[in-house]
Amino acid sequence: MDWGADRATLLRLYRTLVRSKLDYGSVIYGSAKKHVLRALDPIHHQGLRNALGAFRTTPIKSLYAKAGQPSLEYQHMKLAFNYVLKLKSLSRNPCHEVVFEAPLSDFSAVTKRCEGAGRKRETAMCRLRVGHMWLTQSYLLKNEQQPFCYACDSLYTVRHILIECPDFQDTRRIYFSVTDLYRLFREVSPFRIVGYLKDLGVYGKI
Ligand SMILES: [Zn+2]
Repeated sequence: MDWGADRATLLRLYRTLVRSKLDYGSVIYGSAKKHVLRALDPIHHQGLRNALGAFRTTPIKSLYAKAGQPSLEYQHMKLAFNYVLKLKSLSRNPCHEVVFEAPLSDFSAVTKRCEGAGRKRETAMCRLRVGHMWLTQSYLLKNEQQPFCYACDSLYTVRHILIECPDFQDTRRIYFSVTDLYRLFREVSPFRIVGYLKDLGVYGKI
């Protein structure tokens, strides 16, 4: 009977070919509900069982101990902490500001902030890029006239708010100095663009 490769080789194969795929993106998906994440555990356990030649009935904790491998939960927590530590040194990374506004000790608050604030900012940036936001396009849905800028009476568009309106110039200068949309989205941090819109009081109407 052919017993195949030894345990160390099988474990290495499992870690590099299978678990690496489970790890990929866990910093993002790791904040899902526990019962959802548990769907991945059988894959992890089967990989360890195959490498160890253990039975289906072997207790899970014994599998971890014999293989010298953590549970997926701990593994992904470790990866998340590594990510946070790396982020700490990358002050220009867009996530840096969101994560480190909250104390590092309160990790769940950090992930919640990232999810909520990050998601809203992402959606806002996407709408700005395509030039459709509620404030400037809702007239279409409501079958009304296209709105005019209350400050300068020009047509109210995303471009007008972000770049053109002379009345917003002073506020704009605080956040960025570019004069075209291409450079705005390429060179200016989303935090600055969002800050500008908040200052104008239009961020809530995106
Ligand atoms: Zn205007």
